[in-house]
Amino acid sequence: MSKLDSDHDYKPPVKKRVSKGLLLINTGNGKGKSTAAFGVMLRAWGRGLKVIVVQYIKHENAMFGEQLAAKRLGIEMIPSGKGFTWNSKNLNEDAALAQNGWRISRELISSGDYDIVILDEFTYPIKYGWIELKEVVDFLLNRPENVNVIITGRDAQPQLIKISDCVTNMDEIKHPYNDQGILAQKGIDY
Ligand code: ATP
Ligand code: MG
Repeated sequence: MSKLDSDHDYKPPVKKRVSKGLLLINTGNGKGKSTAAFGVMLRAWGRGLKVIVVQYIKHENAMFGEQLAAKRLGIEMIPSGKGFTWNSKNLNEDAALAQNGWRISRELISSGDYDIVILDEFTYPIKYGWIELKEVVDFLLNRPENVNVIITGRDAQPQLIKISDCVTNMDEIKHPYNDQGILAQKGIDY
């Protein structure tokens, strides 16, 4: 039940303006999880903030629109995965790559050098058991307090949702692929 539907005793929290690193999660089956994170990336870049992206599941040598844009803006995007997992013949290698990405992510977050660290498609390596959920939760709870972290991916783990500050669930109402069989479009999907 949403706060709007709930009983009329609902009291909104006292408003406060503080500078605090937030944990944001974009999840759900609908399109828009990664692009919403890239929207924040652009907004933050416009404000002169330091942003970096670790991409957990992507084709190693592919250059997608977001990577081309990031390059031109001087934003670093670090690939940690190799191809999509459902094409993979070597699961151990995928696990190793994901764990490598997590090591890089921890270093970036702990350094305190970045205002925002985006962990794109990060829910999947946790779901596959390649990265331990408890370790992620403990690490994020103890990160430097001004570092914002954005996690994207379907099926966000309840433990992650519990410790986050902002969770958005993208609902699929229509998707051109599912409804019309239309394949990914340049500039819209990649
Ligand atoms: P986007 O990067 O467009 O914001 P996303 O991050 O929400 O998408 P992913 O699961 O990472 O979703 O999707 C990557 C690709 O899969 C994109 O090309 C996207 O259009 C496509 N896609 C996203 N949601 C759906 C869906 N519900 N059905 C089919 N394809 C989808
Ligand atoms: Mg995505």
